[in-house]
Amino acid sequence: MTKRRSPSLSINLAPDLWAAPSGEHRNAALDHLVRIYESQGDWANALKIFRELPPAVQQERCRIAAHYLCELAEHALLQGDSERARTLLRQARTHHPELPRADILTARITEMAGDSSGALMLYLKALEISPGLALEIIPRVLNISRELGQSEMLGELVERLRRTGRVNARQLVWLLATALPPQDVRRLAAIAGESGGGMETGSDAASLGALLTRIGDAGGRYQCDECGLHSVGWYWRCPKCRSWDSMHPSVFKWAERTDEAAPYASRG
Ligand SMILES: [Zn+2]
Repeated sequence: MTKRRSPSLSINLAPDLWAAPSGEHRNAALDHLVRIYESQGDWANALKIFRELPPAVQQERCRIAAHYLCELAEHALLQGDSERARTLLRQARTHHPELPRADILTARITEMAGDSSGALMLYLKALEISPGLALEIIPRVLNISRELGQSEMLGELVERLRRTGRVNARQLVWLLATALPPQDVRRLAAIAGESGGGMETGSDAASLGALLTRIGDAGGRYQCDECGLHSVGWYWRCPKCRSWDSMHPSVFKWAERTDEAAPYASRG
């Protein structure tokens, strides 16, 4: 038989909890409430309660508030209200000025408005700021450049990613191999060879083929830094551990490990 909690205990505790609304209990309750709204995808209320948290906590989690606003902006876009989406993105940037998610959404709004050249520039800028989003950005860039009749975009992408200085040669080639449609992957070896600078590493067709098989085996192109979840699709917040901004292209880690240890091809 399980022992029930004494009813007097909860009666005694409850007044304490609510009698000190400005204290620790209040903040803990608000924090809990934010997480409940987050888990329900109720971003408007999550944001409302977030703004009740102490300024120091808000400061520490400013990126998360920016994500709430980006979620709301995406919702506005789905409803066809791009003006409201733009306003929400401006608000998001006040929480965190460097916000790749807002950059990509702005590019999408620009594209929807029919300004393909403007969208292309915004996507390329977002790519330079966040090479980790290459798998999301590159297919869109290639689509737009085809529409615009710009055939040399692949070389441009290679150059821009190299200029960031944040991806090494192997990461760059593997990233492109993952992001590109099959017809462009075949061109990758040639482009990689032309651009030199150690780009030949791992760029032969056999190892690229093995890489794509490995991605299929691992269960996705992305992996969460916090909990290790593999995912085919992109998430700003990991669906398993609920961390924000923790998903990254799987090839980043593999390339790092491979560069540290034996060559990828010999690992099977
Ligand atoms: Zn996770």
